[in-house]
Order: sequence, then C-alpha cells, then structure tokens
Amino acid sequence: MFDNVLSRTPIKPEEILSLQQFSSQIALAIDNARLFEKVQELSNYDDLTGLALRRFFKENLAQEIYRSKRFNLVLSIILLDIDHFKTINDTCGHLLGDEALKSVSKVIRESLRQTDMPCRYGGDEIIIMLPRTSGEEAKHIADRLLKRIKEIKLPENLTDGKEINLSISQGIAVFPNDSDDQNELINKADEALYYVKEGGRGFFALYNEVKDKMK
Ligand code: GH3
Ligand code: MG
Repeated sequence: MFDNVLSRTPIKPEEILSLQQFSSQIALAIDNARLFEKVQELSNYDDLTGLALRRFFKENLAQEIYRSKRFNLVLSIILLDIDHFKTINDTCGHLLGDEALKSVSKVIRESLRQTDMPCRYGGDEIIIMLPRTSGEEAKHIADRLLKRIKEIKLPENLTDGKEINLSISQGIAVFPNDSDDQNELINKADEALYYVKEGGRGFFALYNEVKDKMK
C-alpha cells in the first residue's frame, strides 16, 4: 500500500509506474529474506526431530558459557542416549526407529524451559544445554525425562503388536564445577553417560558423583 501519510498529497497516475517498479524490488528483497530464513532453519535444525544440529548448538553453548563466566552463573548439560535403539530398528524397522526418535525429541522439547536448548548430537544421542541450572536441578530434569520417555506409546501399526518400552541413559556435567571449557564439559557428560551404560542403562549420573567410581 502506498500513501503519503505525512504530506497527504494524492498519488498521481504518472507516479504509479515508478511505484510499481519500486514494489517489485521490495518483493524481491522480501523473497530473499524469506529464503535466507528457510536456509538458516534447514542448516540449524534437524529435519526428523526438529532439534538443533550440532554446529548451531555448539555456537549457542559457547555464547552461554561466555555469559555464565561473565555473570558467575551455573550451567548444566545432559547427554542422553536411547537404550538398545539398534534392537528397536532391527526388530520393528527403521520407520518405527524414526518414530521413536521423533517422540523422544517431542517429549524433551515439551519438558524444557524456553531458554534450554536440546540438540540432536548424533544418531540416537541428544544433548541438552540448561543455562542457570545446577547439578541438582539437572538431576530433577533428567528424572522427569526418564519417566516421561518411559510412558511413550509408539503407534501400534508399526510395532506389530509388540510392546516396546523406550528407555534412556543420561550423563550430566556442570559448569564451572566439572569444567569451564565446552568440549571438556561435553566429554565429562559423555564419561558419566558411559558409566550409566556400563552400569546397566536406564538411569542418570552426575559426573562429579561418579568420577571416583570410574577409575
Ligand atoms: P546402547 O544402549 O548401547 O546405546 O545401544 P544402541 O543399540 O542404542 O547402540 P548404538 O548407539 O550403537 O546404536 C544406535 C543406532 O541408532 C544405530 C543406528 O542404526 C540408529 N540410528 C541412528 N540414526 C537413526 C535415525 O535417524 N533413524 C533410525 N531409525 N535409526 C537411527
Ligand atoms: Mg543408543
């Protein structure tokens, strides 16, 4: 819509042509901006789960760690992995595997705060950044995720009538207690996750509480 809001002078017919040219340039700019947004979404988020992808997550984690250092805040990360996911794929097919991944991601997204960030870290591995969250609070969140994921009912037409119960293992690491470096923090969460996998799966561990048992 064109209007001389300030001068209130009418737009003359001979001005219409240049306005038309102007509007097609604007339309092009809007198209470009929309395309840019779409490309960004495609490169930052995983198609299947809707979760952030690794590179985008790491950029955000670096920023959040910087902010946490600057303002003396705590931050936790949870690294989680679906238990025996390969068996689910092998017994019921990849379609069900995909469905399980989608459901787990949905539950995670719906169980977090807006400021938290879940990310599809690898195949069946999901990492969650929890700004301003202590280890104790992260354990509460891990417990909530564990319970909600256990309750997931997968579509019966894909499970061949079999009862499939999803379970996850989780490792938690806390900034700055466990490390103030992002890669090291992720490694510590991974070590805690490994401890859980080795210990029978289906529970969670805080790195700081299990580190001495691992050596
Ligand atoms: P563990 O309890 O030790 O984690 O056992 P696991 O079977 O989950 O072990 P592993 O991590 O080795 O297996 C992960 C499997 O996830 C292997 C791979 O085929 C499957 N996978 C990875 N990405 C996808 C995906 O997008 N869709 C489906 N359906 N499967 C996937
Ligand atoms: Mg797994």
